[in-house]
This record gives sequence, structure tokens and C-alpha cells, in this order.
Amino acid sequence: MTTTEFKPQTFEGGCHCGRVRFRVTADLSRVTYCNCSMCAKKGFLHLIVPPEKFELLRGADALTAYRFNTGVAQHTFCSTCGIHPFYVPRSDPDKIDVNVRCLDGVDASALDVKEFDGRNWEHAMAGRVPWR
Ligand SMILES: [Zn+2]
Repeated sequence: MTTTEFKPQTFEGGCHCGRVRFRVTADLSRVTYCNCSMCAKKGFLHLIVPPEKFELLRGADALTAYRFNTGVAQHTFCSTCGIHPFYVPRSDPDKIDVNVRCLDGVDASALDVKEFDGRNWEHAMAGRVPWR
């Protein structure tokens, strides 16, 4: 990849039905796949950004949150179409974790995706965390 691909860019994205839309500014150099029980089933591709880099354009009323285990993560999804465009992650509850698969015009298969061993969460967080 060239360095230009690591420059922050502004993307828009959303759920499948269009009720939820957002805008995010980030670079795609640290997109991460997690193998935990939740992310593996969703196929979530993580892009964690500070809240000031994220703007919910519409759909706050469409979001439902699912919680489990520690209850820290808020797995928000569109109550109409069921897609998970972003959520509040357990690792960084002060940030927003955007699903790269929900960004307009991004070919997820072309990205150099990092891996995170979320099945062994405590151990993985104590090691080298790809997005930090
Ligand atoms: Zn939807």
C-alpha cells in the first residue's frame, strides 16, 4: 500500500435499509478482524475512532443495543434491517467502533486486515493490540 492510503479520509456509511446513516473520519490502516463469539458471527470489521471523528447523521431512534458478558460493549444495530453499522466496544468504551463493511465505497476485501484474538480477550488485550 502507498502512504496516501493511510491518510485520514471522510467516509459515509450506514445500515442496509438506510434508517441509520453516519459519517466518520479515519484512515484504514488498522482495520481489525476479531474472532470472538460476537464478531465472528457478525463478520464485523473494526475501525475504532474517537467520538469527535464520528457523526450520527440519522437513525438514533432506529438503534437497539444488545449487551452480554461484562455488559460494557453496547452492540447497537438497526431495529429494522438488523445490520450493525457501529457500536461502543468493550476495549474502548469512550470510542466508537465502526463496521468497515458498512462504509460506502470501501472494498473490504482489498484492505490489509489485522487480527485480534477476541476469543482470549484478556490475554489479547495484554499483548500487542492492532488498533493502538
Ligand atoms: Zn436498517
